[in-house]
Amino acid sequence: MNNYSDVELETAHKHSLANRKTIQKSEQCSCFYCCCVFPATMVEQWLSEANGQGDTGWCPRCGVDSLIGDASGIPLTPSFLAAMNGKYFDADCAIEADELKPTSLHSS
Ligand SMILES: [Zn+2]
Repeated sequence: MNNYSDVELETAHKHSLANRKTIQKSEQCSCFYCCCVFPATMVEQWLSEANGQGDTGWCPRCGVDSLIGDASGIPLTPSFLAAMNGKYFDADCAIEADELKPTSLHSS
């Protein structure tokens, strides 16, 4: 069950495409395939969209192009990611609260 409408989920899904500029403005980025949240600077692989719309980021953890940056205004909460996963992948999305905190991957 989720509390999100199809419109909300579809809007969020659009942010997973040609999202390089958004991700580069984001602090955090989430993947709704493997349901992780990580610093947006970890996204290093990009796929150019054929129609010239821009580049789409790939998840550094699972390699799927299902990323949403927080600069999009989309709430990167566990329940929202689970709802996205259920709509678009229906995969196992075992979210642990700890996984949704920024990890120590920042190497400042
Ligand atoms: Zn992922």
